Amino acid sequence: MIAMKPVSKTGIVIRYNFVKLEHEYHYCPVCGGALNAGPDYYPDFCEKCGQALDFSGTEWKEDRQIGFVEPEAV
Ligand SMILES: [Zn+2]
Repeated sequence: MIAMKPVSKTGIVIRYNFVKLEHEYHYCPVCGGALNAGPDYYPDFCEKCGQALDFSGTEWKEDRQIGFVEPEAV
């Protein structure tokens, strides 16, 4: 089986309920399943479809703070 590069997409996550972070997600190129991957750990295979994954050359981006969630009016 030939290892394929994962697909990277940037999304926004809310942390601590008010901090907005830009977070990079990695997806399986075959089934689109989300991969639990980071610079310290990344899977060699997709846990959903078993596709071999090649994370070599992946540039790990740190979460970047992009602002705060506006407090809701009470
Ligand atoms: Zn997959």
